[in-house]
Amino acid sequence: MAGEIRALVLHDVGGGKVEPRIETIGENSLPAGDVTVAVEHSTLNYKDGLVLQGQGRLVRQYPHVPGVDFAGTVERSESPAFAPGDKVVLTGWRVGELHWGGYAQKARVKADWLVKLPDGLSTLHAMAIGTAGFTAMLAAMALERNGLTPAGGEVLVTGAAGGVGSVAIAILAKWGYQVVASTGRPEQSNYLRGLGAATIVDRASLATQPTRPLDTERWAGAIDAVGGTTLATVLAQLRNRGAVASVGLAGGTDLHTTVIPFLLRGVSLLGIDSVMAPKAEREEAWTKLARDLPLEKLDVMIQRVGLEELPDLAKRILKGGVRGRVVVDVNA
Ligand code: NDP
Repeated sequence: MAGEIRALVLHDVGGGKVEPRIETIGENSLPAGDVTVAVEHSTLNYKDGLVLQGQGRLVRQYPHVPGVDFAGTVERSESPAFAPGDKVVLTGWRVGELHWGGYAQKARVKADWLVKLPDGLSTLHAMAIGTAGFTAMLAAMALERNGLTPAGGEVLVTGAAGGVGSVAIAILAKWGYQVVASTGRPEQSNYLRGLGAATIVDRASLATQPTRPLDTERWAGAIDAVGGTTLATVLAQLRNRGAVASVGLAGGTDLHTTVIPFLLRGVSLLGIDSVMAPKAEREEAWTKLARDLPLEKLDVMIQRVGLEELPDLAKRILKGGVRGRVVVDVNA
């Protein structure tokens, strides 16, 4: 028998505005899908901030339950791939945008979108990782596929104190890299060093458009959550055969650069898309996250909240004001 569940529901209130309300809804209003999950934890990513603020034209239909990610326990499954009791995680696939997401006590989705949680990873830690941490792992894997090794030299992480940046630092440090963290929040230096950053740089030093196509070679690799002039600067400063994984746009979407770094230094610009990442890559990333991301480092990144706190946090994350990762206990 379908019961009732608590959810954060976003309503279109006209004039391009949306309003989040905590409501009790019938489980039978969940969208179609072959697996029903009892959600334990969700999270707040930058994209969730956009959805909660009605920005970015990400949601097409209201009322809408946001939440790009969730982790929980399978309650019912019409797919042979999952059985009741399985612990699962979902990131991406436009859940929380086109399909109802994780800001509810239950979610119904396609089996193909779910990944079984690796042993030893709780639903809380899975959501401390979330899309942001999963993306950081995809970026680190892409850099290594491109030939990056710890012997190659310093690796830059931009947007360092944010979700992607924090997890990227912890992963790269664990893998033995010399990590340089670029941040606009010098007060977070101790936090960043605690995650494993060897050096901190002021993000302003990367934020002016390069005047020359090639700058002094510095970075063996980079994970860039900022985009815009920061990414243009990083490209001009990459060492020979280096690569930057382009992950985000927190500082802008435009990219004004030249082809010279590609032609004279053989550098690579690697695009990272976590949303439509294929299943095999997802499973590899989650296995590596469970194995390589030190839980004590993840713990210091976490801020635990309930559904009620999300609307305010959404405004803060869009202003770059959230440190590390937010974990939402949907049953709190
Ligand atoms: P956060 O808001 O947690 O982190 C972004 C960080 O970027 C901030 O903490 C801040 O770091 C820095 N920043 C913010 N505003 C500016 C600015 N104007 N100029 C320069 N730096 C700025 O977001 P997430 O870590 O969750 O996401 C980071 C980016 O990655 C977002 O653009 C997001 O959309 C994108 N993303 C992309 C994915 C993909 O699949 N490609 C998946 C997940 C996220 P600091 O204070 O240290 O300077």
